[in-house]
Amino acid sequence: MTSTETVPDLITPTWDYAPAPEARDLATIHDTYGLFIGGEFVDPDDGGSMATISPATEEHLADVAVAGERDVDRAVKAARKAFGPWSKLTGTERSKYLFRIARLLQERAREFAVLESIDNGKPIRETRDVDVPTAAAHFFYHAGWADKLDWAGLGPDPRPLGVCGQVIPWNFPLLMLAWKIAPALACGNTVVLKPAETTPLSALLFAEVCQQADLPPGVVNIVTGAGDTGAALVAQTDVDKVAFTGSTAVGKAIARQLAGTGTRLTLELGGKAANIVFDDAPIDQAIEGIVDGIFFNQGHVCCAGSRLLVQESVHDLVVDKLQQRLGTLRLGDPLDKNTDIGAINSAAQLARIEALVEAGEDEGAQRWSPECELPSSGFWFRPTIFTGVGQSSRIAQEEIFGPVLSVLTFRTPDEAVAKANNTPYGLSAGVWTEKGSRILWMADQLRAGVVWANTFNRFDPTSPFGGYKESGFGREGGRHGLVSYLQEEPHR
Ligand code: NDP
Repeated sequence: MTSTETVPDLITPTWDYAPAPEARDLATIHDTYGLFIGGEFVDPDDGGSMATISPATEEHLADVAVAGERDVDRAVKAARKAFGPWSKLTGTERSKYLFRIARLLQERAREFAVLESIDNGKPIRETRDVDVPTAAAHFFYHAGWADKLDWAGLGPDPRPLGVCGQVIPWNFPLLMLAWKIAPALACGNTVVLKPAETTPLSALLFAEVCQQADLPPGVVNIVTGAGDTGAALVAQTDVDKVAFTGSTAVGKAIARQLAGTGTRLTLELGGKAANIVFDDAPIDQAIEGIVDGIFFNQGHVCCAGSRLLVQESVHDLVVDKLQQRLGTLRLGDPLDKNTDIGAINSAAQLARIEALVEAGEDEGAQRWSPECELPSSGFWFRPTIFTGVGQSSRIAQEEIFGPVLSVLTFRTPDEAVAKANNTPYGLSAGVWTEKGSRILWMADQLRAGVVWANTFNRFDPTSPFGGYKESGFGREGGRHGLVSYLQEEPHR
């Protein structure tokens, strides 16, 4: 090749993919679902029902019971009744149930993956390779802890708290359920869990797994419904501990409500993570990390790397490469194994994303998206990059919770740290550089619960996850996560 010839573009594919849809009938969707209370599916007493739809097609999937206050009371009573015998089981006995659940999740993995993709809109590649295996891993991991709590360094005789009320969001429905239920059960608690209104189906399939595992009735109860059901669960006075994952606004309201009641609380709230790329970083690897950081799960990720802080000298190179890479992402049918970007979870979330993107344009940032056709029905948003973003811009400060990246620049490590920490949140951050000493220095300076180095969005049940500042408090996963489900010991 002579120096005048152009280098072939190796990233842009020159062929079209044939569709590779996963079989939809791997998952059975019932017409109607009841509440899971005391080990069986029951009709609501004072609630009604709600529809759950496919965000990719807007097709009606099922009618799901809505739990009213009396239903929530029933579920908490069932959990209280089960607590005595469950907490008195030996750790070895409890761990058998957790292992059984983990194995069943693995055996039924394809069914869970398909159901989650249909109800949530996320690509099957993610549910199959991340959500379901990581959910099973959480049960395996905590099965291992159940009989070793005495040696966890949390006091000589760690005791469970009692009944846990757990409220989870729609972005990782099964995985968030696993993060909540596995440690609670391992420590000897019983639970009442409320899944999000738009994604109840995988939690209801999990209820079937509890039956299949012969879990004693009442140890796990699932109450479906919208925000009112969550509020009723938080307000229930016989709940000993509330664990909430969701928006900072609702988290703050719950913290105010429970202050002074003695009910234990952990909050996993929003984030606005900085993904920081230095000029000595392995740039191609960083591009993959940036894409994974913000476009994984349509950006519906609390720890998403939604602010790219790139060193000024490599800004143009990084943005060029990023645009090329985004041109190769495939948006469409969540059940297609080639799909990278699925549907936005709901019309309401799509409207929030659109409003913030409009605000970004109004504030003068430059918006860019690759050419890509959007399906004619359902909720969709093109992967989007904003350059020329000001530090005080709404798209640099507020959580968009969608496939939208704000690009900012810095010159020195100190400036990178100052900009990264200039947010009310503090959940996660990423650092890309070849210098180990700089990684350690940055990790020490960044006010974020998790700092990834030369990677992003890596999750493991052994590793505690949680935030600083308005991202919440308490940790989930690892030995630290057990603390949230055990009574406090003075010397812990
Ligand atoms: P919410 O905080 O409203 O929802 C999270 C969970 O809490 C859901 O199960 C919800 O029920 C329930 N809930 C709602 N109101 C109450 C209440 N008063 N008391 C108790 N439980 C309640 O999040 P949204 O779904 O409305 O999302 C809004 C924004 O929150 C997103 O744009 C995103 O920025 C952020 N978010 C952050 C998440 C994270 O992982 N950190 C996850 C989800 C959202 P229901 O869904 O049925 O209304």
